[in-house]
Amino acid sequence: MQIIDKIYIDGAFVTPHGEAFFDLYNPATEAVIGRVRLADEADANAAVAAAKRAFPAFSRTTKAARIDMLMRLHEAVAASEDALLEAIVEEYGAPVSRGRWMARHASSVLSDAAKVLDGYAFTRRAGTAEVSMEPLGVAGLITPWNSDAGFICGKLAAALAAGCTAVIKPSEMSAIQTRIVTEALHSAGLPPGVFNIVTGRGDTVGARIAAHPDVAKLSFTGSTAVGKTILRTAAETLKRVTLELGGKSPVVVLDDANFEEAVPLALQAGFMNSGQACIAGTRILVPQARLAEFEAAVVAEVAKIQAGDPRDARTSVGPMVSAKQWERVQRYIRIGTDDGARLIAGGAGRPEGVGSGWFVRPTVFSGVTNDMTIAREEIFGPVLSIIAYRDTEHAIEIANDTSYGLQAYVLSADVERARRVATRIEAGRVLVNTLAHEPAAPFGGFKQSGIGREYGTFGLEAFLEPKSVLGVL
Ligand code: NAD
Repeated sequence: MQIIDKIYIDGAFVTPHGEAFFDLYNPATEAVIGRVRLADEADANAAVAAAKRAFPAFSRTTKAARIDMLMRLHEAVAASEDALLEAIVEEYGAPVSRGRWMARHASSVLSDAAKVLDGYAFTRRAGTAEVSMEPLGVAGLITPWNSDAGFICGKLAAALAAGCTAVIKPSEMSAIQTRIVTEALHSAGLPPGVFNIVTGRGDTVGARIAAHPDVAKLSFTGSTAVGKTILRTAAETLKRVTLELGGKSPVVVLDDANFEEAVPLALQAGFMNSGQACIAGTRILVPQARLAEFEAAVVAEVAKIQAGDPRDARTSVGPMVSAKQWERVQRYIRIGTDDGARLIAGGAGRPEGVGSGWFVRPTVFSGVTNDMTIAREEIFGPVLSIIAYRDTEHAIEIANDTSYGLQAYVLSADVERARRVATRIEAGRVLVNTLAHEPAAPFGGFKQSGIGREYGTFGLEAFLEPKSVLGVL
């Protein structure tokens, strides 16, 4: 049983002013594995004050100094990779295969940011003016539970690269992972107050950061509903806001696709991170003429997918993070059936032979129409919908008929044809015949999937603001 009773403010591990405790679970066993003492509004205020004090000196550091700091942070987090993996599996339930990627990603986002910073020109000329890109100030970084360390490090990397100081509010459900990351980041020896980490509830600590007049920038990853609340709160003090929100990503399988490759890829896109991924490809659009063939291939492929013990290297779908998330997924499976969708794989309940843990069955519905609830709402679990289309125009129409626009996938034997389809899809990222991530490319959503972009130069500029000086050139 781990007791986490410290938060990180002004370069030190301190006891929170908040006194409430929150239980931490192993989702594979439902056992309580720890307790975290939560920060409150007073702690959020103290963290913002520390970041504000640190900002004047930090914002004037040179590019070289910040590259050096980012690389020290990178090395420290990389050295904690094994401990982080263990926590990701135990506290979050990610299968080891996925967990390793997540643990590594937490350190690579820091070195990626150092590379971007190295190539970035902070001053440029515009007509007769000299334009400099200035750090915004104190950044409030609010992150979800589905990739705790990666989001903490990714947002922090961009904020620090820009010269901002930070207050991070991770999800209270990921406190063990947060502790490992915080200890690693602390060991890099950055000046006190440059980053502060206050684990607490969203409606207390998160809301305080979102409203705080000394916070200039908010970068939030989480649900669309909370994103809208944050945007409303931020309006009061005109904070700059980056929102990375939910998705209902289409996987457009073109009629020339080779199903031997397309079906495994589509299922991986849908079931990634046990379905708890904002970028999961949850609407699979299949040509009507090849629907039966596609369904048969899906049934055969899902039978090969192992759902269960996250420590088993063959497992690709682990448990849901919480009882609440498990219930939510079960409810959507019931809704799909009630709305008349046809279950071709999986279904309600736990996988065969699994008696406890928040495990769900990798589930695929066919005969789904795009107006059904399971095709419109983000389920955040391994529940996929196959939607048949008549022709490519119809596929594009269905792909875009959603309030989301985070990511999309196009699968085809003809890359040029897939590229043409990709240009028509309203999404921040379109992946053609691949699931690969590109850290240099912007990431973020169209429509209600968010505002702004992360990663690369675009992600860095989200923490900067241009200032023009005239008469000096
Ligand atoms: P959530 O919106 O419930 O919580 C996210 C964070 O916001 C948590 O730290 C939470 O404590 C905090 N929060 C909650 N209420 C708040 C408030 N009123 N003010 C300030 N902060 C508040 O999301 P979650 O359940 O932790 O994560 C799942 C969601 O995140 C899904 O919708 C998923 O699509 C989304 N997500 C998006 C991306 C992306 O990059 N677009 C990535 C991962 C997850």
